[in-house]
Amino acid sequence: MKEFQATVVNADGNKIILDQTAFNGRGGGLPGDVGWINEIAVTDSIKQGDEIIHIIDGELKVGQKVHGKIDWEKRYKIMRMHTAAHLLIGLLANKEGLLVTGNQLGYEESRMDFNMEVLDRDKILGYVDEANSIISKGGKVKIYFLKRDEALKDKGLIKMAAAMPPEVDEWRIVDIGIDKQPDGGVHVADLNEIGRIVITKFENKGKSNRRLYFKLE
Ligand SMILES: [Zn+2]
Repeated sequence: MKEFQATVVNADGNKIILDQTAFNGRGGGLPGDVGWINEIAVTDSIKQGDEIIHIIDGELKVGQKVHGKIDWEKRYKIMRMHTAAHLLIGLLANKEGLLVTGNQLGYEESRMDFNMEVLDRDKILGYVDEANSIISKGGKVKIYFLKRDEALKDKGLIKMAAAMPPEVDEWRIVDIGIDKQPDGGVHVADLNEIGRIVITKFENKGKSNRRLYFKLE
């Protein structure tokens, strides 16, 4: 969804809450959506509990009917980056047993941290080639909901499941075949939308923490 109608339910200076929104809040390594509410620029979106706070470059009044529009060009880049990150995690974690410790997605470049005692560039680049061949074949990104009990029965999800707060009893699962995990973020519908992953840089970040940067072509 790129555009929507809504009503302002809370306005605190430049912080706006709507009765419904398509803006995705910052979190989990994804930047918050930017765009417009009416003609006013939305410069960030922040998740707070179940609500999204829209940071706007102006003012709106409670009760006002508004038209929201996401900056789709930027959002789509993040969707592609995010699915690409899951694909890399799938290969590095599930195939190589590396622990991916963090990631930060950007519009032009993203980065991912992983644990590897000695950086083996050729091995990592080999996985990127494999990722690109999976992308070129394409494949549906499946998104569905699972009850906690069901998720705990799934071998591929158990590790993640243990880390999930018990009060969340229904999980949104993002399944791209090589990787599946509970995830609340935005993704493309098919792997072939990602394009081609290109590693731009490797960095050493501490004793066994390695960082890679990638872009999409
Ligand atoms: Zn994710």
